Amino acid sequence: MLLQDKVAIVTGAGGGLGRCHALALAAEGAKVVVNDPGVNRDGTSGAGRPADAVVEEIKKAGGQAVACYDSVADGAEKIVAKAVEAFGGVDVLVNNAGILRDKTIHNMTDEMWDSVLAVHLRGTFACTRAAARVMKEKGRGGRIVNTTSVAGLKGNFGQANYSAAKAGIYGFTLTAAMELGKDGITVNAIAPIAKTRMTSDIESVPREYRPEDVSPVVVFLASEAAKDVTGRILGVHGRHLFEYRMELTAGKEKKEAWTPAEVGEFVHAPPSAAPAAPATGGSNKIAAIIRALPGAFDAAKSAGWESTMHFAIAGAGDFTVEVKNQAVKVAEGAPAAPTCVISTDADTLAGMVEGRVKGDMAFMAGKLKATKVPDLGKFGKVFDFKKLKAAVEAGATAAAPKAAPAAEVDLPSLLSRLPAQFLPDKAAGFNGTILFKVDGQGRTLEIKDKVCFLKPPIAAPTCVLTTDAATLGGLLEGSIDGQKALADGKVKVTHLPSWLKFRQMFRFEPEKGLKRALVGRLYTAAPILLKGERMAAYNEVVGDPDSPIFPVTLIKEPFTKFFSDPDFTGDFTRMVHGEQVFVFHKPLKALDLLSVRGRVLSIEDKGSGQLLNFGTKVYCEGELRVEMESRLFFRGDAKAAAGEKAAPPARPAPDKTFDTMTFADLPKRYAAVSGDDNPIHLDEALAKSVGFKGVILHGLCTLARVAKQLPRPLHRLEVRFNKPVYPGETLRTSLWSSDGGLAFETVNGLGEVVLANGRALS
Ligand code: NAD
Repeated sequence: MLLQDKVAIVTGAGGGLGRCHALALAAEGAKVVVNDPGVNRDGTSGAGRPADAVVEEIKKAGGQAVACYDSVADGAEKIVAKAVEAFGGVDVLVNNAGILRDKTIHNMTDEMWDSVLAVHLRGTFACTRAAARVMKEKGRGGRIVNTTSVAGLKGNFGQANYSAAKAGIYGFTLTAAMELGKDGITVNAIAPIAKTRMTSDIESVPREYRPEDVSPVVVFLASEAAKDVTGRILGVHGRHLFEYRMELTAGKEKKEAWTPAEVGEFVHAPPSAAPAAPATGGSNKIAAIIRALPGAFDAAKSAGWESTMHFAIAGAGDFTVEVKNQAVKVAEGAPAAPTCVISTDADTLAGMVEGRVKGDMAFMAGKLKATKVPDLGKFGKVFDFKKLKAAVEAGATAAAPKAAPAAEVDLPSLLSRLPAQFLPDKAAGFNGTILFKVDGQGRTLEIKDKVCFLKPPIAAPTCVLTTDAATLGGLLEGSIDGQKALADGKVKVTHLPSWLKFRQMFRFEPEKGLKRALVGRLYTAAPILLKGERMAAYNEVVGDPDSPIFPVTLIKEPFTKFFSDPDFTGDFTRMVHGEQVFVFHKPLKALDLLSVRGRVLSIEDKGSGQLLNFGTKVYCEGELRVEMESRLFFRGDAKAAAGEKAAPPARPAPDKTFDTMTFADLPKRYAAVSGDDNPIHLDEALAKSVGFKGVILHGLCTLARVAKQLPRPLHRLEVRFNKPVYPGETLRTSLWSSDGGLAFETVNGLGEVVLANGRALS
């Protein structure tokens, strides 16, 4: 019994979540005031007194409860008085009562606004004030659990009043936790999602999200076990429990005041101002920092201090730092018995070491947390951050060739046009090497005896040129002036004469075909809520209840933005979706709020056209869920060399084969659920006019249906779309074990390969 002899008030406990909380608290021994006036969903007076039925239920189960019918908006004192009168005090208050009056701002009346704020926000405040007074008088401390919502924490269309009230409850919870802590009262909030009267007509809330699954969180927060938990906001979506935290970016500090134009630049700058996403290579950097800690340890200063610290770094993982007997040990992974847990994100920790982020500011902003704050202070004194920074930089240079983090931008492809633009006569008298350092990658341009070539980074170049991919792209196509870029600090060089010569030796002009300036460009999308019914409909069409591949609409926005980028000059009639790679980090789930970012990774010239690789990353709450590469081939003017095609290498007999059916109406059904309504899949006449026998099935639909029969969990999936699939065909897939994964190939009824070079890794 977690709540033996405690007195709890649950507001709005006549139904939905409140009823389940009341039953769960009573089951743990609490005497419960079941408060509910029994109003309709919009707050208007309803028929009956649902609180009575809940009291009966509690009593039947052997518990103690009384009903109370006052409104939280104007009856808070009476509700608390009821607890004192019936049970002699109050130990737990669950502020749960709520109503809805949804309308867009244009159509919302003052009355709709006021009534919603009165129940949620004023009700929460008034009940808290009344209960906290009694809790303080009795001197036994107390527990207050408020109810906020994703609508208040993230916003929701059509709920301005409700989201304002729920956001107010969030701020109120934090402040109340600060103020009431001295009386031993904890104040936390839950942000639930459950199928109740309030969400009965919201299709995206699945039936399986049962209100009783939220109540254990309330019971815990109400119990003695949560005496040191306060000011926390726990999300409970069905059985998914998580914590909401306010995210702040590292930001920038200037000596002088910001001008409005600079503010504009800051706000529009990608990607640091964009939704939180772990920095590329962040985990490598953090691992390097932790490894370098012993070199920055001041044994004398650590005298008398012992700590086993668990560094939980979002975006980089868990690490152990143990200080004992004036020595330090570090390891990857969490310790079995930490004495202090320090949580932060990769960017904050790296910023502190690099001197960009001040530790105390990060702490105040909630970006750096410690379960034992003095250990955090001691850590800052015992480790010399300047030494740490130097050690990390030295280590990074030494480890550079093998570290090679997954590149966002492919520097070789960006520079590959240079030899074609070289003006040998202008190079007379210049023999030298320029090392290009772009977004963490390096490539050397060597000019020798009027010949120019590119090669991997070298140790002692004549000149090091440091810039970012976008600036380099602009320089190469002549849209960015070299002199200005240098003056603006967008380009840095170590040897000015080489830079001047570089600018003379090449023809910087827009390219034919796709522009290299696109390489590295980022396309973001508005957050998108993954709806349960949409996933279910999609999974039904692809025939896989657990499809790792998802509707293309989720990731469409970055593609659409890219295709409408004024610098995108590709011709759609010459474009084919050639290859696709998926890396699945964690499954997507209903009600995930996704943020998607796309980036042009590379553009390569091939004999018969250009291959553009578009990378997409899908994040949920800053956590990377899925990475994709979509390789789009743009056929050029030149006919492909008409040589004989090499015969495919003979393959051993497959380890396994399976068949996949497709149906005549599949393109139509898939278009409806995936959002890919390219007419080539729907309009017979159009498909024929561009050379197909009829409409063709979406490549991703074929892949999703085949992927159903590949082993799970699937971590990486890659494939080349070799030939169109016509709906109605039965496909046969052959599988071979290879390099710790599986190779596969899918053929149609004529034996033609439709999915080639398939690879699946678990
Ligand atoms: P519900 O409509 O089933 O229950 C709300 C209860 O509050 C009703 O029994 C109602 O009579 C009572 N109530 C309304 N006005 C009152 C007042 N003035 N005084 C006292 N009681 C009053 O809805 P629910 O889904 O159980 O919602 C409970 C809480 O959870 C609400 O605060 C709601 O905003 C919040 N919430 C619910 C969800 C969800 O998915 N169900 C999501 C986010 C937040």
